[in-house]
Amino acid sequence: MILQLRQQHKELLRQEANRVRPIEACGMLFGKPSRMRTIVEKIILTQNTLSSSERFEINPETAVKAIRESEEDDLDLIGLFHSHSAPANPSKTDLKFMKLWGSAIWLILSLTDGQFAAFQVENGKLETVVIEVE
Ligand SMILES: [Zn+2]
Repeated sequence: MILQLRQQHKELLRQEANRVRPIEACGMLFGKPSRMRTIVEKIILTQNTLSSSERFEINPETAVKAIRESEEDDLDLIGLFHSHSAPANPSKTDLKFMKLWGSAIWLILSLTDGQFAAFQVENGKLETVVIEVE
């Protein structure tokens, strides 16, 4: 799978992660899912209701509202974003929730090295998603 991001999306996420650090930043990615390439069209930043530097949670009402608004723009929820004060690998908690979220793409920004990485669980297996910036 390829996740296509705009340069401005990366900058937005980097800014947000730096703004809220050491708390994990989080957000929702919207676009059009496809089998090979998923294009991010819109990002909605959300508050980490856990205010934690190791975990994140998005208020369910905020999430539902964001999904409804995006449906009006004909966009689907394609994944979630959060930042790490550690390398951009899914934590044990992340993996647990990834399995619940089906094929959603998880985009992680590491503030230790500034790198983005993306993952997806397919058939119970963790897969790396290639990030392309346009
Ligand atoms: Zn995480």
